[in-house]
Amino acid sequence: MAFDDRQRRMVYDRTDGYCHICHKKLAFANYGTAGARGAWEVDHSRPRARGGSNHGNNLFAACVGCNRSKGAMTTQTARRRNFTIRAPMSSTRKRALRQENTALGTLLGAGIAAAVAGPAGVLAMGAAALAGGLVGRQIGKATRIPKA
Ligand SMILES: [Zn+2]
Repeated sequence: MAFDDRQRRMVYDRTDGYCHICHKKLAFANYGTAGARGAWEVDHSRPRARGGSNHGNNLFAACVGCNRSKGAMTTQTARRRNFTIRAPMSSTRKRALRQENTALGTLLGAGIAAAVAGPAGVLAMGAAALAGGLVGRQIGKATRIPKA
């Protein structure tokens, strides 16, 4: 099955341009160019040989090596062989997660100020909440997938 540019872009963006099996960074322009840096193909998460469809939710970007060695293997098996469990997150999902972490850190900071200083700590809460927010942002950064 040949995919047009729009479909390829959708598949590529689902994992923010990383192989969904080994999490290696892929080069969008090198689609189907085996041997090129970051070369990738569209993988059917559930192989067509096992009844998988061409719908977007069954399609993932995979580097040529992973895609070819996967064959009719399930995604779960292929990922386990690479010590990965999930597909890399899309940039949209990563951004949302960072915001959640920042909010969580702010709550934690406020909670700590209240617990430590009691009602008198109300004035300190503003500063603590700010610090908590920064901690949350750091947590957010740490959840980013390192570049291969
Ligand atoms: Zn791969």
